[in-house]
Amino acid sequence: MKRFACILLCLAALASCVKKEARPAYIVQVSLGPWNAPAYTAQQIIGRLDTVSRIIPVKNVIIGWSNRPEIYREVGDFLHAKGIGMYFWLPVFAETEEMCENTPLLDLWGQEPGSFDLTSGEGFRFNCPSHPENAAHIVALYDGLYADCGFDGVFMDRIRTQSFVGGVSGVLSCGCPLCTERYKAEGVDMEAVRQAWEADGDAFLSVTGYTPAEGFVFENPLAAAFFKAKGHVVSSAVGALADSLRSRGLEIGMDLYAPFMAPFVGQDYAILSQHADFIKPMLYRATTAPAGMGFEYNLLKQAAPGAAGYPEFQMDLAFLESQLEAMEPYSCGKFPGIEINYREGVAHTSPEYVTESLDAVMRHGFDGAVLSWNIMEAPEAHIACLKE
Ligand SMILES: [Zn+2]
Repeated sequence: MKRFACILLCLAALASCVKKEARPAYIVQVSLGPWNAPAYTAQQIIGRLDTVSRIIPVKNVIIGWSNRPEIYREVGDFLHAKGIGMYFWLPVFAETEEMCENTPLLDLWGQEPGSFDLTSGEGFRFNCPSHPENAAHIVALYDGLYADCGFDGVFMDRIRTQSFVGGVSGVLSCGCPLCTERYKAEGVDMEAVRQAWEADGDAFLSVTGYTPAEGFVFENPLAAAFFKAKGHVVSSAVGALADSLRSRGLEIGMDLYAPFMAPFVGQDYAILSQHADFIKPMLYRATTAPAGMGFEYNLLKQAAPGAAGYPEFQMDLAFLESQLEAMEPYSCGKFPGIEINYREGVAHTSPEYVTESLDAVMRHGFDGAVLSWNIMEAPEAHIACLKE
């Protein structure tokens, strides 16, 4: 009996020890700006990453997407000497027009949907997820410029269709002949979707409720079938691309919409997580720009004001918890994206916001967080608050 009690005590001590060691790992992003004009030199990046990695434990650095390989070689040498991994930040279905040819995504009326183009200038066209040449060009772009830069992995961004930024038509996509065939194979007739939308308008998107486990439940079975098929069409294409990159010995990270909005842009977490080493759902509560959770949700409501059943979500801690809960079933690495940058009118973050968000991530037993979206410009206080 005594021996049994002793074993129990030992186990309890071990458990508390393990718990204490569950410290967050951090992934940081270096946003280099446009393809042809890197915003920083390699030495500036190295200087900054050296400072940051002395404050918090950095596991990986995501850097891109300038077309100057020498920057990555230099930064990579520095990172690898410190045992830090380097991922190339690769935009997949948008923003590659300067670098390769693309076939654009089309809506159900054969048009290119509108894009976000207000003062921020963050407007970008999306390309068809099914077109084999689009995928081939992306892989060729990586092979041609980045294969010998020392990358440990690729962080796939823009792995989706247009969101409600382009109105409802951007979400009811891609309607090109190739995608129409793929939807047909999934049991969805795109012509019927178009007719249903034209007949019912916003009501086509009405829902009967929302739970983190199930997501939104669509009232119209055709809408439910469409979004399920959309997840399969878009995410299988992303999965195939991820596998192709993985066959080059690369790890794979993925930039994802928050679980509640993911179905609208074709991101099926169950499929994607099978092709990723880690996923980074963008759980931005303080960002009032694309990818901000409240911003994207408001766009949905503005694009389809007649769609019923969408609850009022406050971008509070409880909502963050609901999105973390929705991520739990997937077995790949889970590094939610928490924004630490600050920008007046765009990202109203604070040290309190950063620590509150990270504490929630760790309560869910996840690996850590991606500190978004550019470590080069993140306020010092938003990094210092994470120091243990
Ligand atoms: Zn298409």
